[in-house]
Amino acid sequence: MMRLPIKFPIAVILAPLVVGAQSVTMTATERQLHDAITSGREQQIAYLEKVVNIPSGTLNLAGVRKVGAVFSTSLDSLGFRTKWINMPDSLGRAGHLVAEHKGKAGNVRMLLIGHFDTVFEGAGQQFVRVDSIAKGAGTSDMKGGDVIMLYALKALKKAGRLDAMNITLVFSGDEEHPAFPISLSRRDLIDAGKRNDIALAFEGGNRGDATIARRGASAWRINATGTQSHSGGVFGERVGYGAIYEIARIIDGFRTQLVGEKYLTFSVATILGGTDVVYDTIGIKGTTASKLNIIPRAAVAHGDLRFISEEQKQNTRAKMREIVAKHLPGSDATISFEDEYPAMSPTAGSARILAQYDSSSQALGYGKVEALDPGRRGAGDISFVAPFIDGLDGLGALGEGAHSPRENTNLNSMIMQTERAALLLNRLGQMSAKSFVRTPNP
Ligand SMILES: [Zn+2]
Repeated sequence: MMRLPIKFPIAVILAPLVVGAQSVTMTATERQLHDAITSGREQQIAYLEKVVNIPSGTLNLAGVRKVGAVFSTSLDSLGFRTKWINMPDSLGRAGHLVAEHKGKAGNVRMLLIGHFDTVFEGAGQQFVRVDSIAKGAGTSDMKGGDVIMLYALKALKKAGRLDAMNITLVFSGDEEHPAFPISLSRRDLIDAGKRNDIALAFEGGNRGDATIARRGASAWRINATGTQSHSGGVFGERVGYGAIYEIARIIDGFRTQLVGEKYLTFSVATILGGTDVVYDTIGIKGTTASKLNIIPRAAVAHGDLRFISEEQKQNTRAKMREIVAKHLPGSDATISFEDEYPAMSPTAGSARILAQYDSSSQALGYGKVEALDPGRRGAGDISFVAPFIDGLDGLGALGEGAHSPRENTNLNSMIMQTERAALLLNRLGQMSAKSFVRTPNP
């Protein structure tokens, strides 16, 4: 999933940034990593071209698997044990690639997250390079990030630093259009989260910030009913207000009573009401019929809810239920919720990982990296493991036009991101797992 295109420089984060003893100069080994990545630049760009030119829209199962096979071969040669995990046919998705590298026992276990599917594919989406810009589906979201990950690992292997590292890679085949139920389509990612200590995700990034918090997402749906009757009797004792006044009251109650809490948003996506309402909750479409001289008996509204913590989600749901329960005379309503993405709440541990990334960036001469305002970013795959382990996202390609046919990436920044990722992995990978035991939020 993409980052939001508008970027605010201010980082409003709840957790304090703990600055440890991170070095802002390069060691001899890190210089070696830097040199290996710079000299491999054209080879890395050719690899990106190769995988971008394999069309892999989420529902192109053969294409997604073909991209997976290319990465599998490369990872096998680095000493990873790779496994393609198929999804049941009923889910209609290609499956995921899981790759594991066993290093020194006791060293931190790192989960690296990518995805092979793209939003667009086909004609006009092939790789086109003009100077330092490469256009094409997945150049930035996120075959670019996958290639950054791979070439950082290649450099670490060459420098003899990979051998001691404990790394699990999970590449989803359906990040852009996840299959339901999520409990099945994200099962392997969640399992990997539970057997690792930290998560690093390579979705699109920026030069000056990375992501230690993303809001979660939930769907909600209201079904309201009224007593169908002659319109002339509306508001009367006997028949009351009807389904549409009831649903309007509820939605306006949300607006007047819940707006303004930090990082909390809720939006009504659609609303239908009348005498005969047919609504398809999967397709998010429907039909309605009515008469002008009646009080309507049915209404449905469907929307989403974004939150920064599980606690904020639960509190908001409770308040929404309370508002729903204050029915107008002659009407009734129920609200239901469906979990989509959990929140990735800011934690002290994630801030420590960011501090390592920041110092790696400074050591390379690329400047400071701060926390991105979570209000500026949508949900992503790292969110599924955030309830268990700390992490950092936005380590991938810098580009524009994600989720549009204009998608592109800046190839100079791809090299910068590869160098920064290699230094980050090098610095984290030798640390003990004990230093990443999650500490409770202050
Ligand atoms: Zn993505």
